[in-house]
Amino acid sequence: MGQIKTIGVLTSGGDAPGMNAAIRAVVRSAISHGKNVKGIKRGYTGLIKNDIMDMDARSVSDIIQRGGTVLQTARCEEMFTEEGLKRAADVVKENGIDGLVVIGGDGSYRGALALSSLGVNVVGIPGTIDLDIPCTNYTIGFDTAVNTALSAIDKVRDTSTSHQRCSIIEVMGRNAGYLALWCGLASGAEDVLLPENYDYDEQTLVDHIIANRKRGKKHHIIINAEGIGHSVDMAQRIEAATGLETRATILGHMQRGGSPTCKDRVAATTMGCYAVDVLCQGKKNRIIAETKGEVVDYDINEALEMTKEIPEYQVAICKELAI
Ligand code: ATP
Repeated sequence: MGQIKTIGVLTSGGDAPGMNAAIRAVVRSAISHGKNVKGIKRGYTGLIKNDIMDMDARSVSDIIQRGGTVLQTARCEEMFTEEGLKRAADVVKENGIDGLVVIGGDGSYRGALALSSLGVNVVGIPGTIDLDIPCTNYTIGFDTAVNTALSAIDKVRDTSTSHQRCSIIEVMGRNAGYLALWCGLASGAEDVLLPENYDYDEQTLVDHIIANRKRGKKHHIIINAEGIGHSVDMAQRIEAATGLETRATILGHMQRGGSPTCKDRVAATTMGCYAVDVLCQGKKNRIIAETKGEVVDYDINEALEMTKEIPEYQVAICKELAI
């Protein structure tokens, strides 16, 4: 069995509902295994600044149901410099942290990989609303975010139908279209624009809106992914081209907040405990993932080399049903 005595935990990148449940699982599982736990504030920024606190079972009371992250999070430019990375690795060692759990997205994993090359033992847990981590079928926060977006889209749809408008609703996801695709499928949107395959041909959109209006459709909902953006300008151009009132709604940061769904709490809890198990087994530099419904772990290099595509079948049925 491994020699781990002290586990550090941080959240990094964009916050995601369920990060607190993951922190709770890491802290309590580590304590149950007889380990010390240190919480690092504001991701890699707090690590470099040595903003670190001891955590016990009570430090994570009453957080499983809360959105955001009690450890807070940040994007940290210093991690892209040799000096910043070295400082971060030194702080890990000075604090006696022999296993560092990083809860975040792909970028946070790249930071973890860089730290591993300086001798830090890292374990990544997928925490991002974007679902864009290739090695895993699920990322903590996606279910909550997609349901938050969906309930907003349903509301916009009510008013769009009443006014017979065209509505462009912009959802998050950075450069990935998973959130947009799921929102499109679940809301029955007429068009879904994904960064992975959008051809920027607005005439096709305009023709589709006009054809649907002739078919008797009372609204036209376009889900636009953040990676494409420019929804307000797009709405103005579409209104000019179709003669139909067209409004843009950018859902923005409300998609990141709120109490995590059951699915996110369960995924976060399972993956948090699994991360501690992996460290206690003496494994080094692993990424926790969900594959075919099972929680698994991959070598961090292997995980970061994986790729994933947007599911073509779901893209196709979205179009097929928008008649
Ligand atoms: P999300 O996409 O959900 O916001 P993320 O983890 O992908 O999450 P990023 O902003 O891409 O978010 O990365 C978080 C932080 O990880 C960065 O601010 C930086 O500190 C660190 N990081 C990202 N890429 C690297 C890299 N190549 N080398 C070192 N550190 C990195």
